[in-house]
Amino acid sequence: MRILLLSDIHANYAALEAVIKDAGAFEQVWCLGDVVGYGPDPNECINRLLEFDLTCLAGNHDLGVTGKAALWDFTQDAREAIFWTRHALTTFNLDWLRSLPATNLSAGYGITLVHASPRDPVWEYIMTEEIAVKNLDMFNTPICLNGHTHFPAIFRKPWDGLKVLEEHLPVNSPIQFHPYDRVFINPGSVGQPRDEDPRAAYALIDLDQMTLTHHRVLYDVTATQTKMKAEKFPSRLTRRLRFGQ
Ligand code: ZN
Repeated sequence: MRILLLSDIHANYAALEAVIKDAGAFEQVWCLGDVVGYGPDPNECINRLLEFDLTCLAGNHDLGVTGKAALWDFTQDAREAIFWTRHALTTFNLDWLRSLPATNLSAGYGITLVHASPRDPVWEYIMTEEIAVKNLDMFNTPICLNGHTHFPAIFRKPWDGLKVLEEHLPVNSPIQFHPYDRVFINPGSVGQPRDEDPRAAYALIDLDQMTLTHHRVLYDVTATQTKMKAEKFPSRLTRRLRFGQ
């Protein structure tokens, strides 16, 4: 079975659509949260996701929009986008966002899904080996898939190793899951990459082979920026999409 793994779509429909086309055939979508916030297409993105057999977590921006996360924890630009999103969303889609779980979720197959980190599913950024180590005891499967940082990453503690080490997450080249390793894998952000590569990021998981393949795909950045300008989004949010920052 093939799974399309998405995170941090951030209401960027052009990016989401490019990813779906690039992915080819898949049976399910696992989405690690932050479907909305920052971008101009919250309804379009939710409606598109709901066409699939979907497992979806709430991210901090989803919780900000639904009033479940305090807004002073966000930057001014993020807050403005959250206010805009609240008004733009249909009642149905707002209710759907409200229904998303903000917890660690077992996906079966030895895989845990989380938006941020296992010990803080909403806010903690797994950016360093030190933080990855501190989260190892907070989930009990070999694999934890996380988002939130907008940086594709892999932190692994091999079954015969003592330390958690960051590894390079290759593009277009499958990595094998090992049942005795402990590993965090972040597929990067669909709608607002921050690793200085503006292409949309995602991953495909093959549950028969137990592999994950990271992908990047070009999308029409200008189309998203044009909508953001028309809706008077903060200019920094509009500009950063061009540079993947
Ligand atoms: Zn995010």
